[in-house]
Amino acid sequence: MSSTTTPSVRPRIAVFGSVNMDLVAYVDSAPGRGETVTGTRFSQVPGGKGANQAVAAARAGADTAFLGAVGEDAFGTQLRTNLVECGIEVSGLRTLGGASGTAHIVVEADGANSIIVVPGANGEVTGLREGDQALIEGSAVLLLQLELPMDGVAAAARAGRAAGVPTVLTPAPARDLPGELLEHVDLLVPNQHEAARLTGESDPRTALAALLRTVPEVIVTLGADGSLYGARGGEPVHVPARKTRPVDTTAAGDTFCGAFAVARAEGRPPEECLRFAAAAAAISVQRHGAAPSMPERAEVEELLA
Ligand code: ADP
Repeated sequence: MSSTTTPSVRPRIAVFGSVNMDLVAYVDSAPGRGETVTGTRFSQVPGGKGANQAVAAARAGADTAFLGAVGEDAFGTQLRTNLVECGIEVSGLRTLGGASGTAHIVVEADGANSIIVVPGANGEVTGLREGDQALIEGSAVLLLQLELPMDGVAAAARAGRAAGVPTVLTPAPARDLPGELLEHVDLLVPNQHEAARLTGESDPRTALAALLRTVPEVIVTLGADGSLYGARGGEPVHVPARKTRPVDTTAAGDTFCGAFAVARAEGRPPEECLRFAAAAAAISVQRHGAAPSMPERAEVEELLA
């Protein structure tokens, strides 16, 4: 099977994570304390690292189930509909009383941004609910991030380990990782800043080695410099990024991670998974937005052919 062949059976991936509505205001410069400014444009886009990784995995060729929560507001309905329209299975997406998660983003004329995340329903996901275990057990890979309460993330990782499902954690937003979470994680995928924050080591190779003392496999993503992969006991492997002209690197890491999970779930060897993920991410950085920039499987295959 060549590295670009689509398998006849689509693998199943479960994503246990956050889903937000991103509310984006574009301004010349952000207001200071007590100040009001007039914006130039507004956009409302579905987001959240969990939902973004689910969209990336579905587009890259997996039957993807999303486990998480929205509120009973209009955003909740829109977020659910969006996931369904992306072909994602939402039986594990709960509607809870109260507000959906929102991210309030201010983008200045020079591209700098400031973000307030209000977790809403995401903040209520402190453990597994009925049916979650079965969705995780039926998957070839479980994807986790850190935009849900740590208790919820740890419960999902425990369920993944109990079911023998490889668990991939993107440690973002970066925060200290408790041992009870790490002991159930098979593969950690920080970017270089998160790797430095987790280990105190600014050199990615040193950070990778430090992280391999806590989990069996690590990928440190390096933006335009590609990615560094290591498995305990083996030599690290560097896979370069594809040469591109990036216009918007939002969600490059989520695209990379979702696509990597699909290739891993198809049973491909690590370097092939990394090249597949790098191709998907390279396409995404040449387009604007998060989920809208994520490529379909056929586009990734075409780039790799
Ligand atoms: P994050 O979005 O989490 O900060 P990175 O910036 O490290 O993650 O990007 C993840 C992956 O996306 C990289 O390993 C690389 O394959 C791809 N990528 C990111 N930026 C570029 C770029 N400018 N050109 C090509 N590929 C890129």
